[in-house]
Amino acid sequence: MTDAAAALKATEFPFQSFRRALRHWYRDHGRHLPWRAAEDPYRVWISEIMLQQTTVTAVVPYFERFLKRFPDLTTLAAADESEVLRLWEGLGYYSRARNIHKTARVLVAQHEAQFPRDLAALQMLPGIGRYTAGAIASFAFGLRAPILEANTLRLYARLIGYRDDPRTTIGQRRLWEFAEQVLPARDIGPFNQALMDLGATVCTPERPACETCPVRTCCVAYSLNLQDEIPQRARRPEITLVTEYAVAVSCGQQYLLRKRQHGERWAGLWDFVRFSPPESHEDSTDESWMSTEAARRTGLALKSLNPLLTFKHSVTRYQITLRCFHATVVKAKRVSTDSEVWVSPEQFGDLPLSNPARKIARHLQQMKATPVRVAESLRDSIPVTE
Ligand code: SF4
Repeated sequence: MTDAAAALKATEFPFQSFRRALRHWYRDHGRHLPWRAAEDPYRVWISEIMLQQTTVTAVVPYFERFLKRFPDLTTLAAADESEVLRLWEGLGYYSRARNIHKTARVLVAQHEAQFPRDLAALQMLPGIGRYTAGAIASFAFGLRAPILEANTLRLYARLIGYRDDPRTTIGQRRLWEFAEQVLPARDIGPFNQALMDLGATVCTPERPACETCPVRTCCVAYSLNLQDEIPQRARRPEITLVTEYAVAVSCGQQYLLRKRQHGERWAGLWDFVRFSPPESHEDSTDESWMSTEAARRTGLALKSLNPLLTFKHSVTRYQITLRCFHATVVKAKRVSTDSEVWVSPEQFGDLPLSNPARKIARHLQQMKATPVRVAESLRDSIPVTE
């Protein structure tokens, strides 16, 4: 018998007592979250998209700022994508923000600024998958829609003792099936929220609070003492170390920023001139090569190139050491276009920047505020091959 087959069959699960215990627990222990104040599909949608890959604590201030600026679909649809990205800056996974903006425009143009009250129609919208559609449909409209996200995946897998990988097609099918079966006949929204809250606060990834868990009598993992083995852990991808370069090119008091293009990392955000070395220079400390490359990529005659700062940051499985430099141009025609702008440090705050670019921007702003540090920072200049 496989592990999957050994998991509890649907007919053996004590649904009635589970629902009763969960409802009772939720009355006293449910989380008070700002997006739950009203059964508003717009608030549910924004919060659920923000919560993907992000913790509740990190999301709350972003959610409040976003709702203050864009209180409804119409204001969001009317905004520039750049402003939406600026408010999203720091949350990461920027395709979420771009999709939110696209969806707002679709809903205003084609659905009279209303969310469809239908699971299939919701899933046709950019960035809305089965889980988010289920959350909007059940939390805001009370429709009978199941949910399965990180917290409920872990909870369901433990409840039914599902020992195989829950991320496979078979695993997903089994857990979605359970998510449907566990739903009560009424009050679907609060019930789904209770499931998520139990997963987030009691049935936690590490050291779940089984001794005080309201549904432990229904739980296969608890009865077999398997809560540390279930769910099967996802294999972590190996970390790859890479070096990249960023160059803050200035002309007078202004710096050159480029818009990241569709298909690039951080598409739609602005960045300093940034590039990866080819394989032959991957581990190189050859700064003269880097200087030549910076001049070639900008098409500008660069007068000098000076170390600015070096720091590490991570993007998916890459740990990037970013070596940042400052370069001044000999002469440049400063023409701003849709994809290139020359801005002063005071204007950095007006544009959405990638996290590393924001770090460089803050450094430049500080240097401007304390000119002594500029002189110190620029002491070791590197000659540039034009
Ligand atoms: S008994 Fe433990 S493993 Fe089972 S649902 Fe409760 S917290 Fe999770």
